[in-house]
Amino acid sequence: MSSVPASVEPIRRLCVIGVGLIGGSLARALRAAGHCGEIVGCGRGRKNLERAAELGVIDRFETDPAAAARDADLVVLSVPLGAVRDVLSALRNHLADDAVVTDAGSAKQCVVDDVRSVFGMIPPFFVPGHPIAGTEQSGVDASFAELFQGRRVILTPLAETSGDAHERVQSMWKCTGADVVDMGVRHHDQVLAATSHLPHVLAYSLVDTLARMDDRAEIFRYAAGGFRDFTRIASSDPVMWRDICLANGEPVLEALDAFSRDLGLLANAIREGDGERVLSVFEHSKRSRDNLYRE
Ligand code: NAP
Repeated sequence: MSSVPASVEPIRRLCVIGVGLIGGSLARALRAAGHCGEIVGCGRGRKNLERAAELGVIDRFETDPAAAARDADLVVLSVPLGAVRDVLSALRNHLADDAVVTDAGSAKQCVVDDVRSVFGMIPPFFVPGHPIAGTEQSGVDASFAELFQGRRVILTPLAETSGDAHERVQSMWKCTGADVVDMGVRHHDQVLAATSHLPHVLAYSLVDTLARMDDRAEIFRYAAGGFRDFTRIASSDPVMWRDICLANGEPVLEALDAFSRDLGLLANAIREGDGERVLSVFEHSKRSRDNLYRE
């Protein structure tokens, strides 16, 4: 875990709304880095929060976001995208004067739209964010302090965002060992649609198609390591990914259209026995992936 640079002011009271994989891992990482005093969790019911307290991820919890955020100088929303607007509405008028609010949502324009609609403007204390780290697991039991180490966190500050709020959120993520970068909202949503949201759609869709086939038992009996690697992300939380696909619909559809077009061309090449074309797609793909993951 990164140690806290002396110049970084620690968080006095952190409020984590949604103590699951991301919120729980952030709380654990900040505690391990000695970067915050009290950690207050918030969620829909007591079960997950009691577990979070038992694991020592949070110090105490509330089920009302307004009560949880009381006197917190940093509030992090790490709930599914479909829940963001309601949580923001519950927080409005209950934030401390010096509170900075950020989120971990996988798409950013929808969060910015929710913030604008709830507050009537973009408040200077709001810093949209997205850690590019995760697993296919959910809930506080899946959280771990090292999740963000060496991973990127993208912040999409807006013209209205205050420099101080931006710096405080940057410092928070740096303390988890993450590499923090800034990006425009639209660019973020297009890039993540291509590299994360499209692959999830493909994995879910492939497993769904195969699982509907009459001879599915026979098909899955012979599934090997490649199938397991390719479909791991289809075990991710369906509600979270439904929310992401709908919230980032336009960029996801653009990426899906480009992929469908190329898949159609590949199908034609196979139908026509055009081995040269098939080979050129596979060679180009292998080269690109090898370059991406070259040690
Ligand atoms: P998660 O493990 O399911 O945690 C989300 C938590 O939010 C749950 O533990 C739940 O806690 C709470 N919650 C769920 N619905 C809620 C609602 N309607 N109102 C209030 N609280 C609610 O999910 P996660 O993977 O941490 O994802 C959280 C956010 O991070 C999402 O916006 C996601 O897009 C983003 N993200 C995810 C990943 C990833 O790979 N998983 C990566 C980067 C960003 P209670 O049961 O206590 O209510």
